[in-house]
Amino acid sequence: MPRFDYQAPTDLKEAIALLSGGATALAGGTDLMVKMKRGLARPHQVVSLQRIEGLKEIVVSANGVARIGALTTMAEIARHPLLSRNSLLALTEGANSVGGALIRNRATVGGNIVNARPCADTVAPLLALGANLIIDGPGGRRTRPIEGFITGPGKTSLLAGEILVAVEIPPPEGSGSCYIKITRRAVMEITIAGCAVSAALERDGRTIRQVRMALTSVASTPLVVEGLEKRFAGRVADDAALQEAAAMARQSAHPIDDHRAPAEYRSEVIEVIARRALRLALERAGGGKRK
Ligand SMILES: Cc1cc2nc3c(=O)[nH]c(=O)nc-3n(C[C@H](O)[C@H](O)[C@H](O)COP(=O)(O)OP(=O)(O)OC[C@H]3O[C@@H](n4cnc5c(N)ncnc54)[C@H](O)[C@@H]3O)c2cc1C
Repeated sequence: MPRFDYQAPTDLKEAIALLSGGATALAGGTDLMVKMKRGLARPHQVVSLQRIEGLKEIVVSANGVARIGALTTMAEIARHPLLSRNSLLALTEGANSVGGALIRNRATVGGNIVNARPCADTVAPLLALGANLIIDGPGGRRTRPIEGFITGPGKTSLLAGEILVAVEIPPPEGSGSCYIKITRRAVMEITIAGCAVSAALERDGRTIRQVRMALTSVASTPLVVEGLEKRFAGRVADDAALQEAAAMARQSAHPIDDHRAPAEYRSEVIEVIARRALRLALERAGGGKRK
């Protein structure tokens, strides 16, 4: 491991000043430390965000917005009672599927987002849930949708000196959500293909009111299945609709071959899990089963 200067400020402004000077942010270190050990990242100064107050809280405000601090670990998200509602299960399932127990105790949601890998297991859930990112930096605080934040593998629209402070999920309004992923074994595996869905039903319990779907590991970034919401709002959630939505997921995917799976397999399997995920999210929207 190359030598580096280490700072652990307790003040957000101080951290922003250090990052503006060219330092690298450190959260749980499960991505950054691996890169540093392999010589893929050589920061001269590392700034831990762990001691900054307020970056680890999970709160749901009176208007139903769930706010999750960027330094919240996957384990904390997976077991938090405020996030165990049917509407937010996509996120808890995504967090609970990351690595193994040791990794989940270190890995943060902010690190998962900013690391910007196509296989990031909390990003598709947050895309499906229509999450916003709260970002602080030299130019002040800003809020932006998570959609479009990741611009390529390992690339985001974060500006120099900026810190991802929190993720906000809008009120779910009676929806259900889920995240299903395919891996070669149950734990400590990178996702071959994943699908997150957030859906809501009309009062009749059959007609789709709202639906969003996002995919993992089938393109250069996690992606939203475009046009789904428009096409299915007002449609009865029957087998034909589920199949049509699954076919749209397959069409949105642009997978590559790698050592985990060939592109063709990813295309096949994304259609299968998209159908399953949509069915499960709709069941949950109707108050039904959790898995
Ligand atoms: C064995 C193993 C298994 C894994 N399995 C999975 C898996 O199944 N699914 C999955 O999605 N990931 C997996 N990962 C990857 C990793 O655990 C996650 O991406 C993790 O969420 C990264 O968070 P972190 O806090 O460790 O980030 P760090 O490593 O600390 O940081 C990652 C990057 O984000 C930047 N950063 C972090 N936080 C902020 C912030 N708040 N503001 C600005 N920049 C920030 C850092 O500068 C760095 O560039 C695995 C990793 C390992 C080592």
